[in-house]
Amino acid sequence: MTRKRVSQATQDAVLLKSKRRCCICFGLQGDIDLKPGQIAHLDKNNQNDAEENLAFLCLTHHDQYDSITRQSKNFTIGEVKHYRVRLYEKLSEQFDNLTFFENKDNAIDDSIPGLYIRTGTPHSAEIQITRLLDGRYHVSADAVWVSPYHGGAHLGQIEFSSDLKESTIEYIDFSDFSDDRPNYKLMLIFKNNNDLIAIEENAEWATFLGMNVRLAGDYIKSS
Ligand SMILES: [Zn+2]
Repeated sequence: MTRKRVSQATQDAVLLKSKRRCCICFGLQGDIDLKPGQIAHLDKNNQNDAEENLAFLCLTHHDQYDSITRQSKNFTIGEVKHYRVRLYEKLSEQFDNLTFFENKDNAIDDSIPGLYIRTGTPHSAEIQITRLLDGRYHVSADAVWVSPYHGGAHLGQIEFSSDLKESTIEYIDFSDFSDDRPNYKLMLIFKNNNDLIAIEENAEWATFLGMNVRLAGDYIKSS
C-alpha cells in the first residue's frame, strides 16, 4: 500500500492544536512538555487523513501505539481520542490566558507576542515571545533534533530579551569569551502577523544547543 501524505493544511492544524505535545504523555502523566514526535493515524489506516483521525504522538508512544502486542493491552483509539480532547482543552486554556494577560498590560496593539511553531521539518522547535513592560521582547526558544538512526533526541534552549528593529529581533551570544570561536547569532524576522523566519549564524559553535540542534527555519504563529 502506498502511503498517502497528509495534506500540509491538515498537518499544520494538528501541529498547531497539539503544539507538539503528546496526548498519551499528557493523558497518563500530565506531561505537557514539547516532544519530538510524529502524526499518528489513530485507526491505523494511512489513507484516512481526516483531522479527527490524526494525533501528534511522541516517538515512544507512536511506536507503542502502532505495535501489535498480545502480551499487554495496547492503547485503544477511544483512549487516545479522549486524551487528545483533554490535551487540546488544556493547551487552549493555558495559552489563551497567556495572551489575555499580555494584552491587558499592553497599551499598544502588538501582534508580535505569541507562540511560534516550526514547520516543514521533523525536528520540533518553538519560540515563545512576550512583551516586557520596558518595550523589549522576551524570547524563549526550544528545539529538538531527532536522530534518524536510533530515534534519540538532542535538545537546545535559548532565552533572552531584546529590541525589535525593522521587524527583526536579533540576538548575539557574547557569553563565550574565547577568541577562536565566532559568536552565535540568531535573527527572528517577522513576515506578517502569523509567520516568522529564524536565521542563525555559527550555530555549530553554540554550546547551549545540543549536537545538530538548530533554531533556523520557518515558523507559524499558533496563539
Ligand atoms: Zn508520549
